[in-house]
Amino acid sequence: MSLNDTGNQSSNYASNLENILGQDAAKKLLRASLHSPVHAYMFIGPAGVGKKNAALAFAASLLCDNFGCGSCPHCADAMAGIHRDLVVIEREGSQISVDAARNVVALAQRSPSVAKRQVIILCDFHLAEEAAAALLKTIEEPPESTVFIVLTEEVTPHLITVASRCVQIQFNPVAEEIIEQMLVTRGVDTQLAHEIALFSRGSLARAHLLLEDESFLPRRQIWHDIPNRLKAEGSVIAGIVDGIAASLDVLVEHLVEEGKSELAALESSAGGLSAFNRQGIEERNKRKIRRVRTDELKSGFSELIHSYYQKIDTSYESGEVDIAWQRVQLLEEASLALNRNPNEELLLTSLLFELARIN
Ligand SMILES: [Zn+2]
Repeated sequence: MSLNDTGNQSSNYASNLENILGQDAAKKLLRASLHSPVHAYMFIGPAGVGKKNAALAFAASLLCDNFGCGSCPHCADAMAGIHRDLVVIEREGSQISVDAARNVVALAQRSPSVAKRQVIILCDFHLAEEAAAALLKTIEEPPESTVFIVLTEEVTPHLITVASRCVQIQFNPVAEEIIEQMLVTRGVDTQLAHEIALFSRGSLARAHLLLEDESFLPRRQIWHDIPNRLKAEGSVIAGIVDGIAASLDVLVEHLVEEGKSELAALESSAGGLSAFNRQGIEERNKRKIRRVRTDELKSGFSELIHSYYQKIDTSYESGEVDIAWQRVQLLEEASLALNRNPNEELLLTSLLFELARIN
């Protein structure tokens, strides 16, 4: 990005941040913070909405001599995650370990080597428990030249104290139009971009996954066909439920495999793997798979809601409109029920029966 393509001084010093998609409120707060940054920031928001990219862009802007010009070596190295005064701490295994936390405590005391300060980014901090406690004092009062950026999906009970010591910046799901536009800019066909955006549920990471995913269109077709296939007959409903379950299995296949290889690698590592750690990793992987399945079901429900809304728009006979409304309500309730970790098959079966019975 060139500095010369804008004559506006105020946009110059935040070029790195301008490249972040969506998140206008967060970007505004971060821009305002660049001239006198505090010692710690906590970026809070769901997975896949761009927290880490925003952290790299903000770090680059803090390391740059010109508040994030986007073109100097500080900016380039920091955006690539290889700046000498930038430390990015990712979890190993299920969380940031206490050893890694101790290492961070030591690193935080270090003086910057090439920039005016150093930045330490802590990823997936909602998963850190003991590490959060070990880091509290350092995050609370680091040396003046150290800035922390803590990334978390939520403020869990063990993060309340750490959160209270940070400037909290909220990140939100990215708007569908922004995701669609991003895909079109990258050369994705408009119709496919629209469908992926609809199914991404505000997550850029999910949009990228769907783009790579050959089973996306057939999976979407299953949901698309439901209004026409639906009948209050056991065999019809079971057929639809099986189709959905099979499509979800394909979707999480690679996650299941990744989980297995992660465990195998840890098991053959020098320290081996304790039963306690194995259980922790297995549970974390299960949660991850569950989240993907739940997101996919929610996207499917949204797809159905969308098609019933279209019915409402195109049909002015009061009976039809009323039926569509009732179906929308059922789907919205089912979508909420997904947050309570229900049995997938039971939920889908009863939802489809109820949808079919309304007439
Ligand atoms: Zn720069």
